[in-house]
Amino acid sequence: MPSVTKSSLRPRLLNGQTGDPALLVSLRWQGRALLIDLGRIDRTPGSVLLPIESVFVSHAHMDHFMGFDQLLRLFLARDGTLRLFGPLGIADCVQGKLAGYTWNLTDEYGFTLDVTEIDATEMHGWRFAARNRFAREPLGTSPFTGVCFEDSVLTVEAAPLDHKIVSLGYAVTERTHLNVRPDALAAAGLRPGPWLNVLKAAVRSGASPDLPIEVGTGDRRPLAALRDELLIVTPGQKIAYVVDTLFSPSNAARIVRLARGADVFFCESPFLDADLDQASKRYHLTARQAGALARAAGAGRLQVFHFSPRYEGRYGELVTEALAEFAGREMRYGELDGRSASLP
Ligand SMILES: [Zn+2]
Ligand SMILES: [Zn+2]
Repeated sequence: MPSVTKSSLRPRLLNGQTGDPALLVSLRWQGRALLIDLGRIDRTPGSVLLPIESVFVSHAHMDHFMGFDQLLRLFLARDGTLRLFGPLGIADCVQGKLAGYTWNLTDEYGFTLDVTEIDATEMHGWRFAARNRFAREPLGTSPFTGVCFEDSVLTVEAAPLDHKIVSLGYAVTERTHLNVRPDALAAAGLRPGPWLNVLKAAVRSGASPDLPIEVGTGDRRPLAALRDELLIVTPGQKIAYVVDTLFSPSNAARIVRLARGADVFFCESPFLDADLDQASKRYHLTARQAGALARAAGAGRLQVFHFSPRYEGRYGELVTEALAEFAGREMRYGELDGRSASLP
């Protein structure tokens, strides 16, 4: 059973279950964060948003992208690069937003926005630099086989889903989770310090077992000995995120693959199953479909959100329906009437 207790990934829906989609995933201990979807974020303090390094946008419908201006306003005077990922066409959307302002006083600014468009088999990079008045510059093309971003800590996968346009689902996975055993640290006569981060980074990067790590002034010990003695190495946590998508056989298969084994699966559930026709017509899921997908994916926990305002005062019904299906207390999808697609 997946566990969330030891994880360093802390996901939080900035606008709760009913507001615009914006999932902040903070990396505990690292002062870093990523944001999945960029709905309005004006009620979130800047201090909460500033650790964001990368933004992953599902699609550019307004409720998923209107927070762009506020994020730009916050980051503009800061040096550094903010990465933004999205479906093909997202660079045009960014360019269009940037064209709505005048940039005659930003020549000295060190802020850069790097945009990656995720297409079926390729990713296209574009740079928008403040010092260059945010003129669009090509960064080249790279192959896409499911992973859109990775570093020494994280892997982010993207899956194109059918929302009458492409809506990208995302999954964030920690490469490995490394816990220090305080008792072992004390027993080895060592004090905690920045060297522990050096050790963890070396383990994550697959460095040589003989690599010397400086644990104190002039005291160097081989990586493998420190790892075996001091660290508990466990598989990383996985968080999956799916919004705005039709419940079709091919979508369901992609969602189940993306969310397989996720510790937490954030899944839209805008409609009750009683309004399945409405949901299908609008290329959205029902709460029951969200529950069935989470169960098929073997997710540890299902977090439903992106509720339609038509259910105001009845939002609990969406949660109840989704969780009942997730727990398998309702009929399986194959037993439902023919309007529902069967799960893989
Ligand atoms: Zn949409
Ligand atoms: Zn939406």
